[in-house]
Amino acid sequence: MYDVTIIGAGIVGLATAYQLLERRPDLKICMLEKENGVARHQTGHNSGVIHSGIYYKPGGTRAVHCQRGYKLMLEFAEKQGIPYDICGKIIVATNAAEQAKLDEILQRGIANGMKELRKVGREELLEIEPYAKGGVEAIWVPQAGIINYKKVAEKYLEIVEQRGATAFFGAKVQQIIQGDVECVVISQSAEARSKIVVNCAGLYSDKVANMTVSHHAYRQASRSIQILPFRGEYYELIPEKQYLVRNLIYPTPNPKFPFLGVHFTRMIEGGIEAGPNAVLAFKREGYSRWDFDRKEFFETLSFPGFRKIAAKYWRDGLEEMRRSYFKSAFVKSLQKLVPEIQSEDLRPGGAGVRAMACDAEGNIIDDFLIFEDKNIINVCNAPSPAATASLAIGETIAQKVLRRLNEK
Ligand SMILES: Cc1cc2nc3c(=O)[nH]c(=O)nc-3n(C[C@H](O)[C@H](O)[C@H](O)COP(=O)(O)OP(=O)(O)OC[C@H]3O[C@@H](n4cnc5c(N)ncnc54)[C@H](O)[C@@H]3O)c2cc1C
Repeated sequence: MYDVTIIGAGIVGLATAYQLLERRPDLKICMLEKENGVARHQTGHNSGVIHSGIYYKPGGTRAVHCQRGYKLMLEFAEKQGIPYDICGKIIVATNAAEQAKLDEILQRGIANGMKELRKVGREELLEIEPYAKGGVEAIWVPQAGIINYKKVAEKYLEIVEQRGATAFFGAKVQQIIQGDVECVVISQSAEARSKIVVNCAGLYSDKVANMTVSHHAYRQASRSIQILPFRGEYYELIPEKQYLVRNLIYPTPNPKFPFLGVHFTRMIEGGIEAGPNAVLAFKREGYSRWDFDRKEFFETLSFPGFRKIAAKYWRDGLEEMRRSYFKSAFVKSLQKLVPEIQSEDLRPGGAGVRAMACDAEGNIIDDFLIFEDKNIINVCNAPSPAATASLAIGETIAQKVLRRLNEK
């Protein structure tokens, strides 16, 4: 019997295993992952930005974990020799309305303890990013950086396996039997008995939470949340045009919208990405716009929360669809920041799907959502910056697990 079973070998599940073994090297940990390797979904398809924590509500779990996770991530990368670069980023306002929003973001950042943030005028903005000529003003965020989170996840796995954890791949969890003393997790290829189960299943975390015998806590704690999949598509700048972007150029985000807007990102291994947009995916792991799963799409459409969100955001949603289907619309958004970019400078890149938790009343769950149900700890919302914050989230979950183990 194991002490802990962790479902999902994305960055959150792996960081949880890592933090548990940091504190209790004697623990017997089992990981069950449905794919044949780590980081096959959100973790391996993100922008690779080390977020500073500027955007998040002060005092909220995203703000708190981002700040702590940022520090832990840099220490980890340094110690393990994982390449990263604190290159800084600019958040650009292109008109007076955005300038006013920029002030709000700056105040948030300051409330989150980021003293080094500052506004820069057009002249200084162009010294930082010479081709961001669409900008009239910007916030300079010196703390932001870049890293490859797949590499981080692979390193977490290497360390936890060295410390005795067992990882099963190709092990899609299908059933959980929750008893008073132990839980049995049944997957396609392995069965694990343990005292505690941690659900870090990302895009399927709601489904896994629903497998537990006791639905009561889930219904109460989460008000019946459902994961809505939002695909983010990227383009890549062709090598001859990469001089147009030095590091990270972000637009002023729409405060009503849960995503940051299409931006330019230098990748740690080289190259510049533009994106991601945010379109409803017709399949939870639908990386192409042609991917469609009838059952999953029907579940999305029939969820009352989705219908309320669609009623609220239909205009933004349509605009995102247009940007997905028409490259010219995508390019236009990028030209607001860097006017010299042309359609032929961009070639299609990859895509990622974000797991966005939403409740039945149509509220997007803004903060990380971790709730406990008897012997199961469910991580049912770990949106960006959960990769940056992974070691801090892992720390929080580890504390909850250890408290429960001590009670046994
Ligand atoms: C397009 C995009 C850009 C982003 N950019 C950034 C960024 O720049 N910086 C940042 O900090 N964050 C970013 N994020 C957010 C970040 O990537 C995620 O918050 C983070 O990766 C979540 O990790 P996770 O482990 O919860 O989920 P995942 O990485 O999705 O892992 C969940 C795992 O669970 C497995 N699983 C699911 N169901 C089962 C089952 N039934 N049985 C067994 N295994 C199962 C899956 O196969 C998967 O491996 C971005 C996300 C996206 C999608």
